[in-house]
Amino acid sequence: MKKTDDEWRRELTPEQFYVLRKHGTEPPGSSALNAEKREGRFTCAGCGQPLFTAGTKFESGTGWPSFFRPLEGAVATTTDSSHFMTRTEVHCARCEGHLGHVFPDGPAPTGLRYCMNGVALKFEPGDDTQA
Ligand SMILES: [Zn+2]
Repeated sequence: MKKTDDEWRRELTPEQFYVLRKHGTEPPGSSALNAEKREGRFTCAGCGQPLFTAGTKFESGTGWPSFFRPLEGAVATTTDSSHFMTRTEVHCARCEGHLGHVFPDGPAPTGLRYCMNGVALKFEPGDDTQA
């Protein structure tokens, strides 16, 4: 699933384009999804692929929606050495849109914290066991 920047720019909002296609980061606390507590699933704002179920979301206190486990095969990671830090970058396995980073300081059972940009996600309320 390859698209040019121009194609993405037409489909995405400027904020979505900046995060998903330019590895941007939204300001902490800016996403309404921080407070999303309903059952459902979170999908990629770029391509609609299901990424996380609501049952794996937790309150990290960072101001970004955080999850301890993605859906099987939904995301991929690369090493990001920008900003003078080595972090693990998380992107959508289908459209390669940048989602955020993963850190090894999350809760059980995985011990991982998937720190996501809310603007890169869409929420679909519903029974998340179907995801
Ligand atoms: Zn995607």
